[in-house]
Amino acid sequence: MAGATAAIYPLKLLAPVVSLSVVYLPAVLLVSAYWGLALGLGAALLSAAEFNFFHLPPVGRFTIADSRNWVALAAFTVVAVVAGTMAEVARSRALEAERGRAEADLAAALARELLAGAETRAALGATARRISEALGISSAAIVLGRGEGDERRLALPLRAGDGVQLATLIVPVGIKGPAAQRLREQVVPALSALVAIALRRDAMQAAAVETEALRRSDDVKTALLRAVSHDLRTPLTAIVAAGHALGTGSLTAEERTELSSAVVDEGERLAALVEKLLDLSKLQAGRAAPRRDWISIDDVLQAAREASAPAAASDVRMSVDPDVPELRADAAQLERAFANLLENARRYSGGQPVSLHVRRSGSRVIVRVVDRGPGIEPGERERIFEPFYRGPRSASAEPWAGSGLGLAIARGFIEANGGSITVESLPGQGSSFLVALPIEPEPVAAAATAPA
Ligand code: ADP
Repeated sequence: MAGATAAIYPLKLLAPVVSLSVVYLPAVLLVSAYWGLALGLGAALLSAAEFNFFHLPPVGRFTIADSRNWVALAAFTVVAVVAGTMAEVARSRALEAERGRAEADLAAALARELLAGAETRAALGATARRISEALGISSAAIVLGRGEGDERRLALPLRAGDGVQLATLIVPVGIKGPAAQRLREQVVPALSALVAIALRRDAMQAAAVETEALRRSDDVKTALLRAVSHDLRTPLTAIVAAGHALGTGSLTAEERTELSSAVVDEGERLAALVEKLLDLSKLQAGRAAPRRDWISIDDVLQAAREASAPAAASDVRMSVDPDVPELRADAAQLERAFANLLENARRYSGGQPVSLHVRRSGSRVIVRVVDRGPGIEPGERERIFEPFYRGPRSASAEPWAGSGLGLAIARGFIEANGGSITVESLPGQGSSFLVALPIEPEPVAAAATAPA
C-alpha cells in the first residue's frame, strides 16, 4: 500500500488524482487472497485513508475539501471491500478444494492398505502408519475389538453402521487444531467404514473356505458310498454266485476248481479293499501313529514287493545303494505304502518291468518307483493322492480295477513317518514316484563307539 501511495505521485502528472485510487486495488486483492477477509477489509480501509491523507486535497489531512472527492473515496472503498471479499471467497474455495483432495487421498490410501492385503489384521500396522503420517502425529495404532486408552493414549472407537465397536484407533492424547478436527471428522468415520468392509470381506473369505472344505468332505463321503456299494458288492455277488454253483451236484472237477478259485480270488480282492478302507479310516481319524523301530528299507521293500498284487504280471527290479542306513520308522506302514505304489506301477505299466532304486541323499533316503506305463497328466499329479480319486485309465485297467485309495494311503503312511511323496511323469512314457524318508542319527552306533 505504501508502494501504491508512492506510485501515485508520478501518475498524478498524467491523470486526474480522483481516478488513481485503483492503484491500491492490487494490494487489497493480494492481502485478501493470502491472509483472508479481515486483513483484506483492513487493507481496503487503510488504502482509503492513505489515499485521502496523501493525495486528496487538502493533502496531509483527513478532511476533504471537494465533495466530488468524497464520492471518489466512497466508491473506491466500496470497490476495495467487494474485491477483497471476492478474493477471500476464492481463497476459501481453493482451501476447501485442497482439504477435500487431501481427504480423498487419505481415504483412498487407507482403503488401499486395508483392502489390498489378504487379511485385515495384517494390514492394520501399515494403515495406522498412514494415519500418523497424514495427521503429522507421533504415533497411531489400530487394534481389533475394544482397545484401552490411558493417560498418554486416547482410544477412539471405530464402530460399524449398527453401532457395534469393531476396532479401536489409538492416538497420543493432546492432539489439537486442524489435526484433531481431521481426526474426528474424517479419519474416524472413513476408517470405521473401511474396517467394517475389510472385516466383512475376511468373514466371507473364511466362509468360502469352509464351504469348500465341507463340499470336499461331502465329495469324499459320496465317493466312499459309491466305492463301498460298487466295489464291495461286485466281488460279493461273484462269491455268492460261485457258492450257489458249487452247491449244485452235477459239476466236473475242472468246473469245481474254477469256481473255487473264483471264490478265493474275489475273497482276496474283497479283503484287500476292506484293508485299504481300514487303513484310510485310521489315517483320517488320526489313529495311525507310527511305531518307530530301526528298520532296513531293503527288507521293507522286499516284503512290499511280495505283498503287491500278485495278479499284476510286471517284474520288479530292485537296486539299493550300499550306503543306505537303517531308518527309524514303522515297517508295517511303509510296507503298505510301497506295496500300493508297486501295485499301481505293475498294474499300469502293462507288463513292462518296474524298477525300484534306493539311494541316500544328505539326511534322507530316496526311494524311486519307476514304471514305463502311460504316465500321469500334469493336471492329475496332485489329485491322484486324494482318497477315492481314480484317473481316467483306472477303469480300463481291469481285472484289478483300482479303488482310488492306494495313493492316499501311501501318502498318509509316508507322511506319518516324517517322509514325503511326489510324482514325476512324462505322459506316454511312464511315471516315477519319489519317496523321501528322513534319516535319524543312530543312537545304537553312538553307544557302541562310546567307551564302556
Ligand atoms: P487306484 O486304486 O485307482 O490305482 P490310486 O490311489 O492308487 O487308486 O491311484 C489313483 C489314480 O492315480 C489311479 O486311478 C491312476 O489314474 C493314477 N495312477 C496311480 N499310479 C499310477 C501309475 N503308476 N501310472 C499311471 N497312473 C497312475
